[in-house]
Amino acid sequence: ITRLTFDQISTAVHDAYEACKDIKGGQNAHYIPYLANVNSDLFGISLCLPDGRLISVGDTDYRFGIESVSKVHTAILALEQHGAQAILDNIGADATGLPFNSIFAILLENDRPSTPLVNAGAIAACSLVKPHGDADGKWKAIFDNMTALLGSEPVLIDELYHSESATNFDNRSITWLLQEYGRIYDDPKMSLDLYTRQCSLGVTAEQLAISAATIADDGANPITKRRVFGAELTPKVVALMSAVGFYEHSGDWLYATGLPAKTGVGGAVIGVMPGLFGVCAFAPPLDDAGNSVKAQAALKHLMKSLNLNVFSNT
Ligand code: GLU
Repeated sequence: ITRLTFDQISTAVHDAYEACKDIKGGQNAHYIPYLANVNSDLFGISLCLPDGRLISVGDTDYRFGIESVSKVHTAILALEQHGAQAILDNIGADATGLPFNSIFAILLENDRPSTPLVNAGAIAACSLVKPHGDADGKWKAIFDNMTALLGSEPVLIDELYHSESATNFDNRSITWLLQEYGRIYDDPKMSLDLYTRQCSLGVTAEQLAISAATIADDGANPITKRRVFGAELTPKVVALMSAVGFYEHSGDWLYATGLPAKTGVGGAVIGVMPGLFGVCAFAPPLDDAGNSVKAQAALKHLMKSLNLNVFSNT
Protein backbone atom coordinates (compact mmCIF):
# COMPACT_ATOMS: atom_id res chain seq x y z
CA ILE A 1 0.00 0.00 0.00
CA THR A 2 1.68 3.13 -1.14
CA ARG A 3 -0.59 5.94 -0.15
CA LEU A 4 -2.06 4.40 3.01
CA THR A 5 -0.16 4.14 6.27
CA PHE A 6 -0.45 1.24 8.69
CA ASP A 7 -2.17 3.56 11.18
CA GLN A 8 -4.76 4.62 8.63
CA ILE A 9 -5.58 1.01 7.82
CA SER A 10 -5.67 0.05 11.47
CA THR A 11 -7.99 2.96 12.29
CA ALA A 12 -10.28 1.98 9.41
CA VAL A 13 -10.53 -1.61 10.67
CA HIS A 14 -11.35 -0.45 14.21
CA ASP A 15 -13.86 2.10 12.91
CA ALA A 16 -15.61 -0.56 10.83
CA TYR A 17 -15.86 -2.76 13.92
CA GLU A 18 -17.30 0.04 16.06
CA ALA A 19 -19.74 1.15 13.36
CA CYS A 20 -21.12 -2.35 12.78
CA LYS A 21 -20.93 -4.11 16.14
CA ASP A 22 -24.49 -3.26 17.14
CA ILE A 23 -26.11 -4.08 13.82
CA LYS A 24 -28.96 -6.51 14.29
CA GLY A 25 -30.74 -8.56 11.67
CA GLY A 26 -30.23 -11.83 9.90
CA GLN A 27 -30.16 -15.24 11.48
CA ASN A 28 -27.69 -18.07 11.85
CA ALA A 29 -27.78 -20.72 9.12
CA HIS A 30 -30.75 -22.78 10.25
CA TYR A 31 -30.52 -25.74 7.88
CA ILE A 32 -27.33 -27.01 9.52
CA PRO A 33 -28.11 -27.79 13.18
CA TYR A 34 -24.61 -27.07 14.50
CA LEU A 35 -24.52 -23.60 12.94
CA ALA A 36 -27.95 -22.70 14.27
CA ASN A 37 -26.57 -22.93 17.81
CA VAL A 38 -23.42 -20.81 17.46
CA ASN A 39 -23.47 -17.59 19.54
CA SER A 40 -25.05 -14.96 17.26
CA ASP A 41 -23.22 -12.09 18.95
CA LEU A 42 -19.74 -13.15 17.84
CA PHE A 43 -18.10 -10.56 15.60
CA GLY A 44 -14.53 -10.02 14.49
CA ILE A 45 -12.46 -8.43 11.72
CA SER A 46 -8.90 -9.36 10.85
CA LEU A 47 -6.78 -7.80 8.09
CA CYS A 48 -3.38 -9.09 6.97
CA LEU A 49 -0.84 -7.08 4.99
CA PRO A 50 1.68 -8.59 2.54
CA ASP A 51 4.49 -7.93 5.06
CA GLY A 52 2.68 -10.18 7.57
CA ARG A 53 1.38 -7.45 9.88
CA LEU A 54 -2.09 -8.28 11.23
CA ILE A 55 -4.79 -5.94 12.47
CA SER A 56 -7.42 -7.81 14.47
CA VAL A 57 -10.40 -6.62 16.46
CA GLY A 58 -13.19 -8.55 18.19
CA ASP A 59 -13.65 -12.33 18.12
CA THR A 60 -10.85 -13.12 15.68
CA ASP A 61 -9.59 -16.17 17.63
CA TYR A 62 -12.96 -17.91 17.73
CA ARG A 63 -13.01 -21.14 15.70
CA PHE A 64 -16.05 -21.40 13.42
CA GLY A 65 -17.11 -23.50 10.41
CA ILE A 66 -15.30 -22.37 7.25
CA GLU A 67 -18.16 -23.63 5.06
CA SER A 68 -18.10 -22.20 1.55
CA VAL A 69 -14.95 -20.16 2.05
CA SER A 70 -13.26 -23.59 1.80
CA LYS A 71 -14.29 -23.63 -1.88
CA VAL A 72 -11.71 -20.96 -2.67
CA HIS A 73 -8.97 -23.06 -1.06
CA THR A 74 -9.80 -26.26 -2.93
CA ALA A 75 -10.26 -24.33 -6.18
CA ILE A 76 -6.65 -23.17 -5.73
CA LEU A 77 -5.53 -26.76 -5.18
CA ALA A 78 -7.37 -27.97 -8.28
CA LEU A 79 -5.92 -25.06 -10.29
CA GLU A 80 -2.42 -25.89 -9.06
CA GLN A 81 -2.80 -29.58 -9.86
CA HIS A 82 -4.55 -29.31 -13.24
CA GLY A 83 -3.96 -25.79 -14.58
CA ALA A 84 -6.37 -22.95 -15.35
CA GLN A 85 -7.59 -24.31 -18.69
CA ALA A 86 -8.56 -27.71 -17.29
CA ILE A 87 -10.62 -26.08 -14.54
CA LEU A 88 -12.41 -23.95 -17.14
CA ASP A 89 -13.11 -27.00 -19.32
CA ASN A 90 -14.16 -29.38 -16.56
CA ILE A 91 -15.97 -27.05 -14.16
CA GLY A 92 -16.23 -23.49 -15.53
CA ALA A 93 -15.62 -19.96 -14.22
CA ASP A 94 -19.01 -18.40 -14.66
CA ALA A 95 -21.43 -16.55 -12.45
CA THR A 96 -24.59 -18.53 -11.80
CA GLY A 97 -26.93 -15.86 -10.45
CA LEU A 98 -28.30 -18.68 -8.34
CA PRO A 99 -28.26 -19.71 -4.69
CA PHE A 100 -25.19 -21.63 -3.46
CA ASN A 101 -26.89 -25.03 -3.43
CA SER A 102 -28.76 -24.70 -6.70
CA ILE A 103 -29.04 -27.83 -8.72
CA PHE A 104 -29.47 -25.70 -11.85
CA ALA A 105 -25.84 -24.57 -11.63
CA ILE A 106 -24.98 -27.86 -13.33
CA LEU A 107 -27.35 -27.33 -16.23
CA LEU A 108 -26.50 -23.77 -17.11
CA GLU A 109 -23.24 -24.03 -18.99
CA ASN A 110 -23.27 -26.95 -21.45
CA ASP A 111 -23.75 -29.23 -18.48
CA ARG A 112 -20.72 -27.87 -16.66
CA PRO A 113 -21.18 -27.00 -13.00
CA SER A 114 -20.33 -23.32 -13.82
CA THR A 115 -17.69 -22.54 -11.17
CA PRO A 116 -15.79 -24.25 -8.32
CA LEU A 117 -17.26 -21.64 -5.95
CA VAL A 118 -20.82 -23.02 -5.84
CA ASN A 119 -21.73 -26.40 -4.37
CA ALA A 120 -21.95 -28.29 -7.68
CA GLY A 121 -18.57 -27.07 -8.91
CA ALA A 122 -16.97 -27.42 -5.47
CA ILE A 123 -17.97 -31.09 -5.29
CA ALA A 124 -16.58 -31.50 -8.83
CA ALA A 125 -13.36 -29.75 -7.69
CA CYS A 126 -13.01 -32.23 -4.80
CA SER A 127 -13.39 -35.04 -7.34
CA LEU A 128 -10.53 -33.57 -9.40
CA VAL A 129 -8.08 -33.40 -6.48
CA LYS A 130 -5.16 -35.83 -6.85
CA PRO A 131 -4.33 -38.60 -5.97
CA HIS A 132 -7.28 -40.02 -7.88
CA GLY A 133 -9.26 -42.77 -6.13
CA ASP A 134 -7.47 -42.36 -2.79
CA ALA A 135 -9.80 -40.81 -0.20
CA ASP A 136 -7.11 -40.45 2.48
CA GLY A 137 -4.57 -39.06 0.03
CA LYS A 138 -7.08 -36.57 -1.34
CA TRP A 139 -8.10 -35.44 2.15
CA LYS A 140 -4.43 -34.97 3.04
CA ALA A 141 -3.94 -32.84 -0.09
CA ILE A 142 -7.00 -30.70 0.75
CA PHE A 143 -6.00 -30.34 4.41
CA ASP A 144 -2.34 -29.60 3.66
CA ASN A 145 -3.25 -27.01 1.03
CA MET A 146 -5.64 -25.34 3.46
CA THR A 147 -2.95 -25.35 6.17
CA ALA A 148 -0.41 -23.80 3.82
CA LEU A 149 -2.87 -21.04 2.86
CA LEU A 150 -3.94 -20.34 6.45
CA GLY A 151 -0.36 -20.53 7.74
CA SER A 152 -1.54 -22.93 10.50
CA GLU A 153 -3.79 -25.98 10.74
CA PRO A 154 -7.57 -25.86 10.64
CA VAL A 155 -9.37 -28.22 13.07
CA LEU A 156 -12.21 -30.49 11.97
CA ILE A 157 -15.38 -29.70 13.94
CA ASP A 158 -16.72 -33.26 14.31
CA GLU A 159 -20.18 -32.20 15.38
CA LEU A 160 -20.52 -29.95 12.33
CA TYR A 161 -19.28 -32.69 10.00
CA HIS A 162 -21.81 -35.19 11.39
CA SER A 163 -24.58 -32.64 11.38
CA GLU A 164 -23.92 -31.72 7.72
CA SER A 165 -23.45 -35.32 6.60
CA ALA A 166 -26.81 -36.28 8.10
CA THR A 167 -28.75 -33.41 6.51
CA ASN A 168 -27.10 -32.64 3.15
CA PHE A 169 -29.84 -34.05 0.92
CA ASP A 170 -29.50 -31.24 -1.62
CA ASN A 171 -25.78 -31.85 -2.01
CA ARG A 172 -26.42 -35.56 -2.45
CA SER A 173 -28.85 -34.77 -5.28
CA ILE A 174 -26.34 -32.40 -6.87
CA THR A 175 -23.67 -35.11 -6.69
CA TRP A 176 -25.80 -37.68 -8.49
CA LEU A 177 -26.75 -35.16 -11.13
CA LEU A 178 -23.05 -34.41 -11.66
CA GLN A 179 -22.51 -38.14 -12.07
CA GLU A 180 -25.33 -38.33 -14.61
CA TYR A 181 -23.74 -35.51 -16.67
CA GLY A 182 -20.22 -36.96 -16.43
CA ARG A 183 -19.06 -34.01 -14.36
CA ILE A 184 -17.71 -35.88 -11.37
CA TYR A 185 -14.19 -37.10 -11.91
CA ASP A 186 -13.78 -39.60 -9.08
CA ASP A 187 -16.04 -41.68 -6.87
CA PRO A 188 -19.17 -39.52 -6.29
CA LYS A 189 -19.76 -40.46 -2.65
CA MET A 190 -16.11 -39.93 -1.83
CA SER A 191 -16.13 -36.53 -3.55
CA LEU A 192 -19.22 -35.43 -1.63
CA ASP A 193 -17.72 -36.62 1.65
CA LEU A 194 -14.51 -34.67 1.00
CA TYR A 195 -16.56 -31.56 0.23
CA THR A 196 -18.64 -31.96 3.40
CA ARG A 197 -15.51 -32.49 5.48
CA GLN A 198 -13.74 -29.44 4.09
CA CYS A 199 -16.81 -27.30 4.86
CA SER A 200 -16.68 -28.56 8.47
CA LEU A 201 -13.16 -27.38 9.15
CA GLY A 202 -12.91 -24.92 12.01
CA VAL A 203 -10.90 -21.77 11.35
CA THR A 204 -10.50 -18.34 12.90
CA ALA A 205 -11.02 -14.96 11.25
CA GLU A 206 -7.30 -14.37 11.70
CA GLN A 207 -6.43 -17.55 9.80
CA LEU A 208 -8.79 -16.63 6.97
CA ALA A 209 -7.32 -13.12 6.75
CA ILE A 210 -3.91 -14.76 6.31
CA SER A 211 -5.17 -17.03 3.55
CA ALA A 212 -6.86 -14.07 1.83
CA ALA A 213 -3.55 -12.20 2.11
CA THR A 214 -1.77 -15.19 0.56
CA ILE A 215 -4.06 -14.82 -2.46
CA ALA A 216 -3.46 -11.04 -2.47
CA ASP A 217 0.29 -11.68 -2.24
CA ASP A 218 0.36 -13.82 -5.43
CA GLY A 219 0.47 -17.14 -3.62
CA ALA A 220 3.18 -16.43 -1.04
CA ASN A 221 1.97 -16.74 2.56
CA PRO A 222 2.92 -13.46 4.29
CA ILE A 223 3.32 -15.15 7.70
CA THR A 224 5.17 -18.37 6.87
CA LYS A 225 6.77 -16.84 3.74
CA ARG A 226 6.08 -20.15 2.00
CA ARG A 227 5.01 -20.16 -1.66
CA VAL A 228 1.67 -21.97 -1.75
CA PHE A 229 0.70 -21.54 -5.41
CA GLY A 230 1.96 -19.98 -8.62
CA ALA A 231 1.55 -16.21 -8.94
CA GLU A 232 -0.26 -16.63 -12.28
CA LEU A 233 -3.23 -18.12 -10.40
CA THR A 234 -4.08 -15.03 -8.32
CA PRO A 235 -6.00 -13.29 -11.16
CA LYS A 236 -7.90 -16.52 -11.80
CA VAL A 237 -8.86 -16.95 -8.16
CA VAL A 238 -9.85 -13.30 -7.79
CA ALA A 239 -11.90 -13.54 -11.01
CA LEU A 240 -13.77 -16.56 -9.64
CA MET A 241 -14.44 -14.76 -6.36
CA SER A 242 -15.63 -11.62 -8.11
CA ALA A 243 -18.00 -13.50 -10.41
CA VAL A 244 -19.80 -15.56 -7.82
CA GLY A 245 -18.45 -14.94 -4.30
CA PHE A 246 -21.83 -13.69 -3.10
CA TYR A 247 -23.91 -16.15 -5.09
CA GLU A 248 -27.00 -14.42 -6.54
CA HIS A 249 -25.91 -11.09 -5.02
CA SER A 250 -22.39 -11.11 -6.46
CA GLY A 251 -22.97 -8.24 -8.88
CA ASP A 252 -24.66 -6.06 -6.28
CA TRP A 253 -21.83 -6.69 -3.83
CA LEU A 254 -19.06 -5.88 -6.30
CA TYR A 255 -20.89 -2.80 -7.52
CA ALA A 256 -21.38 -1.56 -3.96
CA THR A 257 -17.91 -2.29 -2.57
CA GLY A 258 -15.36 -3.03 -5.29
CA LEU A 259 -14.00 -5.84 -3.10
CA PRO A 260 -13.64 -9.35 -4.56
CA ALA A 261 -14.94 -11.53 -1.74
CA LYS A 262 -16.26 -14.96 -0.80
CA THR A 263 -18.82 -15.80 1.83
CA GLY A 264 -19.64 -18.90 3.85
CA VAL A 265 -22.75 -19.81 5.84
CA GLY A 266 -20.59 -20.13 8.98
CA GLY A 267 -20.63 -16.31 8.95
CA ALA A 268 -17.28 -15.48 7.38
CA VAL A 269 -16.58 -13.22 4.43
CA ILE A 270 -13.04 -13.01 3.04
CA GLY A 271 -11.95 -10.16 0.81
CA VAL A 272 -8.88 -9.91 -1.43
CA MET A 273 -7.32 -6.68 -2.70
CA PRO A 274 -4.47 -7.94 -4.91
CA GLY A 275 -1.12 -6.55 -3.80
CA LEU A 276 -2.69 -4.70 -0.88
CA PHE A 277 -4.26 -6.97 1.73
CA GLY A 278 -6.47 -9.90 2.65
CA VAL A 279 -9.30 -9.43 5.11
CA CYS A 280 -11.87 -11.54 6.92
CA ALA A 281 -14.96 -10.37 8.78
CA PHE A 282 -16.97 -12.91 10.76
CA ALA A 283 -20.43 -12.80 12.39
CA PRO A 284 -22.91 -15.73 12.27
CA PRO A 285 -26.29 -14.10 11.40
CA LEU A 286 -26.95 -14.31 7.64
CA ASP A 287 -29.22 -12.58 5.15
CA ASP A 288 -31.61 -14.58 3.00
CA ALA A 289 -28.88 -15.42 0.45
CA GLY A 290 -26.65 -16.92 3.17
CA ASN A 291 -24.22 -14.01 3.51
CA SER A 292 -23.24 -12.60 6.92
CA VAL A 293 -25.10 -9.35 7.59
CA LYS A 294 -22.52 -7.79 9.91
CA ALA A 295 -19.49 -9.00 7.95
CA GLN A 296 -20.89 -7.43 4.77
CA ALA A 297 -21.54 -4.15 6.56
CA ALA A 298 -18.06 -4.14 8.10
CA LEU A 299 -16.25 -4.76 4.81
CA LYS A 300 -18.37 -2.17 3.03
CA HIS A 301 -17.47 0.34 5.75
CA LEU A 302 -13.79 -0.55 5.53
CA MET A 303 -13.57 -0.15 1.75
CA LYS A 304 -15.38 3.16 1.90
CA SER A 305 -13.18 4.64 4.59
CA LEU A 306 -9.99 3.44 2.85
CA ASN A 307 -11.42 4.81 -0.42
CA LEU A 308 -10.31 1.64 -2.18
CA ASN A 309 -11.94 -0.19 -5.08
CA VAL A 310 -10.49 -3.01 -7.17
CA PHE A 311 -11.86 -1.30 -10.30
CA SER A 312 -10.22 2.04 -9.59
CA ASN A 313 -6.76 3.33 -8.74
CA THR A 314 -7.80 6.78 -7.62
N1 GLU B 1 -21.69 -26.75 3.61
C1 GLU B 1 -22.65 -25.82 3.10
C2 GLU B 1 -23.47 -26.48 2.04
O1 GLU B 1 -22.90 -27.15 1.21
C3 GLU B 1 -21.90 -24.60 2.59
C4 GLU B 1 -22.79 -23.54 2.04
C5 GLU B 1 -22.20 -22.12 2.12
O2 GLU B 1 -21.37 -21.82 2.97
O3 GLU B 1 -22.62 -21.29 1.29
O4 GLU B 1 -24.65 -26.43 2.06
